[in-house]
Amino acid sequence: MPEIPEMEIYRDYLNKWVKGKEIKKVKVLRVKSVNMESTAFCQSVMGKLIRAITRRGKYIIFHLDDGHFLLTHMMLDGRMFLLPLTNQKNSPEFKEIMSEILEGKAEDLRQRIKGLPGKPSVVFILNDDSILFFCSLTLGYLHYLRQDELESKLGELGSDPLDSQFKALEFTRLIKGKRGMIKPWLMNPKNIAGVGNAYSNEALFRAGILPTRLISAISDADSVALFNALVTILQDSIRLGGDMEEPFAPWDDFTGGYNPQFQVYERTGEPCLNCKTVIKKSEVGGRNAFYCPHCQK
Ligand SMILES: [Zn+2]
Repeated sequence: MPEIPEMEIYRDYLNKWVKGKEIKKVKVLRVKSVNMESTAFCQSVMGKLIRAITRRGKYIIFHLDDGHFLLTHMMLDGRMFLLPLTNQKNSPEFKEIMSEILEGKAEDLRQRIKGLPGKPSVVFILNDDSILFFCSLTLGYLHYLRQDELESKLGELGSDPLDSQFKALEFTRLIKGKRGMIKPWLMNPKNIAGVGNAYSNEALFRAGILPTRLISAISDADSVALFNALVTILQDSIRLGGDMEEPFAPWDDFTGGYNPQFQVYERTGEPCLNCKTVIKKSEVGGRNAFYCPHCQK
């Protein structure tokens, strides 16, 4: 599942390639991915200018010029993809893609467009004729919201670890007195926004803390180490391209660059990079925990 780094990379690309453009046409290919009847959704979004794109936790927010917002969450499989066909808009291929979009032929599009990361759920055609695909929004979604609806939705979220106001001291204060194991707590978006399975495993390994350690047994020094490890890993991942395999656009060879950097996540049975002990996997809070039984206590 995309976490903070992957969504941050999307935010960055969207700001470079989509910000300031108008949504000329909209096609909803999977009605359940949007929060309105599909015609109403298209009418609401069509003709709107995308003023800004921001991120909060794992959410991406498109700020539209009518004062409304498009809020998207990728959940497990959701992906975005940009097809910049501006120079080829008179080509037969472009015309066929357009007609397949407008006729709602999601499966044909998937066959035709190389690199398209799944079956399109919603498609935006922008005013420069580039095409933004939201693919595989089955658990994920794209919702058109008023400001108060957006605020109520995001109001439940905890602090974003990359928010410059959020410091180790605040994190230490936040976990103090909490019950239960540390890993499920870290992954709960009401505590910390945007941290999922991959980066929670990595941060706990770097801080030398077992995923099952009770929060009550975490010292202030451990807590500071954990917060600092988390922030460093997230920043490194953003710098190197994140963990996601699917590129954002046909020219994108940056996305996914952090993948080889994982030290415990999905390395079950391989030797620990610190001590050579075999990395173990077990279920903690319903999710897979990866850890080194020697380095983590
Ligand atoms: Zn180890």
